[in-house]
Amino acid sequence: MTTVWVSPSATSFSCLCEPCLEQARTSGLLFADALLQASVRGTIGAEADVSSRRCGAGHEIVLRRIERPSTLPHHDDRQLQLA
Ligand SMILES: [Zn+2]
Repeated sequence: MTTVWVSPSATSFSCLCEPCLEQARTSGLLFADALLQASVRGTIGAEADVSSRRCGAGHEIVLRRIERPSTLPHHDDRQLQLA
């Protein structure tokens, strides 16, 4: 199983299926052909945090969205002026 992390704003992804890559490698394919065979592309709903896909060979690929930071730490500029 391949886990792919997508950025908070991403609605599409492309990745390499690890089992396919491994199979291609052990069967002696050229690296370029292996990449082509293992390549998986698709879309993910903007609100979906977790989703799964299957590559052409049926391996599961889990998409996980990197969590959006709930609060960004605020830098207090006033501290710079105290001294
Ligand atoms: Zn695969």
